[in-house]
Amino acid sequence: MLGLGDLQIWGSAMAVRVRFAPSPTGHVHIGNIRAAIFNWLLARHAGGAFLLRIEDTDLERSTPEAIATLLDVMRWLGLDYDGEPVYQTQQRPAHDQAAARLLAQGDAYRAAKGGGGEAVLFRIPWQAEAVPGVVTVGPAELAVHPSEPVRVGPDGLQYSVPTAKGKAVEGGACLAGYRDLEIVDAAGAVLFRLDAVIDRGLAGESFSVTGAASLRFTRRAITYHDLVKGPLSKPLDSLRDFVIVRSDGSPVFHLANVVDDITMAITHIIRGDDHVENTYRHLFLFHALGAAAPAYAHLPMIVNASGKPYSKRDGDAFVGDFREKGYLPEALFNYLTLLGWNPGDDREKLSRAELVQAFSLDRVLQSSAQMDAAKLLNLNGQYMAALPFETFLEGVRAAISRLPWGAAADATRLEAVARLMQSRTKLYTDVAAWEYFFVDSPSYDEKAVGKFLRKPGVAEALSALLAAFEPAAALSSPAAAEAAIAAVATAGGFEPGRLNQPIRVAVTGCTIGAGVYETLTLLGRETVRRRLAAAVELSRGGAAGVTSA
Ligand code: GLU
Repeated sequence: MLGLGDLQIWGSAMAVRVRFAPSPTGHVHIGNIRAAIFNWLLARHAGGAFLLRIEDTDLERSTPEAIATLLDVMRWLGLDYDGEPVYQTQQRPAHDQAAARLLAQGDAYRAAKGGGGEAVLFRIPWQAEAVPGVVTVGPAELAVHPSEPVRVGPDGLQYSVPTAKGKAVEGGACLAGYRDLEIVDAAGAVLFRLDAVIDRGLAGESFSVTGAASLRFTRRAITYHDLVKGPLSKPLDSLRDFVIVRSDGSPVFHLANVVDDITMAITHIIRGDDHVENTYRHLFLFHALGAAAPAYAHLPMIVNASGKPYSKRDGDAFVGDFREKGYLPEALFNYLTLLGWNPGDDREKLSRAELVQAFSLDRVLQSSAQMDAAKLLNLNGQYMAALPFETFLEGVRAAISRLPWGAAADATRLEAVARLMQSRTKLYTDVAAWEYFFVDSPSYDEKAVGKFLRKPGVAEALSALLAAFEPAAALSSPAAAEAAIAAVATAGGFEPGRLNQPIRVAVTGCTIGAGVYETLTLLGRETVRRRLAAAVELSRGGAAGVTSA
C-alpha cells in the first residue's frame, strides 16, 4: 500500500506523472487502450512516469483472468509502465482514511441512501468560491411546478419543474447550487430565504415550501480548462452531493479514483470523455483533501460510421480481436494514435520513436474519431511490407501451419512465395489465399471463370500458350513468360496485357495476386501447363474435343 503522503504534490516544475487506470473486464476495448497509449506517449515524450493502476474494485468482473488479459495486452502493445502496478483494492486503507478526514472536516455527512443503511455523501461546499475554478455566473431564475412543494434539507433542494405540457418533472441539486436563494410565489412574495437558514446553521433541518412559483438565486459554476476540450463548466445547481462510501462501507469510484490519484502524485489525467461529468465532482474532492487537482485531458469517443460509440456490433472492438487476426502490435499502436490525434503534418506511418517525439496533447482533436477498419488494414500492410524478411517468414510459417494444406507445403517454395507476396500481404491470415502455390489444382472462383475464361478467343489463346510454354526455357524467368504471352496475345488479336487476367485465373483460380509473370515463373512450367490444359476445358464450358497442345 502506498501512503497518502504529502498531498501538496503539484508544481509547475514537477515531472509528468500519468497513469492508466482501467477496470479490467476480460476484454480491452480499443478506446481504453488508446487512452493508455496517449498517457504512455505523453510520459515518454516528457521523460515522465507512466503508472498503471488496476481499478479492480468490481470483484465480479475484475477476475485474475481479466487482469491477466489486461497485462498481456499491454505487454503485446509495448506499453511498459514504471514501477509495480497499483491495485485499487489494496488502497482501501487510504480510501477509508480520506473518508474519515472528509467527515471530520464537515465536507461529508452520513445519510440514508436507497434503504440500505447510511452512506457517506460528499457535500459540495457552500463556500464554493474557495475551490479553484468555482465562479459566479450571475442571477438565475427557475420556474417550479406550483402543485409540488419545494423541499430544502441538508442534502439539497428537491422540486418539480413544469414541462411545456404542464407536467411536473423532478429536479434538484446540492445546497451550494443556490446561493442567495429566494423561493417566491406567483405574486413575487418571498416564501423562504436559504442564506438566512444556512447562516444560522442548517443542522439536520428540513423545510417544505408550498405554493412556490419560482426559485431566484445566484448561479455559480465549477469550471476547468480541459487540455483537449478547452474551457468547460457545470452550474452547481446541476450537481448533487454524491455518495463516496456505500452503506456497506465500500468506497465509491469517485473517492477511490481521486484518493489514488493523490497518492500516486498524478499530474495529468488523460481518459475518455465519458468521465467529464465525474471530473466536476472530483475537483471538489481534490480540494477538500488538500490537494491541487491535476491537469485533465478528456479524449473524444471512437465512433462508428454513423457517429455512435464504436462497439463490438460495428466490428472488431477489442485489442484481442486484432491480435487474433494477425495484426501487428506496432500497426495497431500507430493506427490508434491517429484516432483523434495527428503529428501536425501528413505522416501516417510513424515509428514508436517518431510518435514519442511528435506527441503533444494540444493536437488531440476535439471531435470524435471515426474507426476506419480499412485504413488500419492498409497500415498493417505497410508494417508487414517493412518487416525483415526472416520475421515475416516466421509469421507466415505459423499462419500456414494452421491451414489444412499447410503441413504439406514445401519449405523452399514457401520461402519463394513469401518473398514474392510480402509487399502485398496485409495480414498473416492472407496466406490462406496462397493455396494455389501448394496444391495440385487450384479451386476456381466461379465468377472469375465466367468473367475471364468463358470469353471468345480465350480457349484458343490458352491453348496457344500451352504450346508456347513447351520449351524448357519458355518459363525460365518473368521476362521469358512476358515475351511468350505477348507473342500469343498478338497472334490471337488481343491487345497487350489483355490476356493477363485470363491467364491468372487459368493458373491460380482467382483474380488477385502478385504479378502474373512472376507468379507463372514461380509455379513452374509443369504446373502451369497442367493448369492451362484444365483451364482450356473450363473455358470451353467443359465442351468435348479439347485439343491438347
Ligand atoms: N477505471 C475507470 C475507467 O476505466 C477510470 C478511468 C480514469 O480515471 O482514468 O473508466
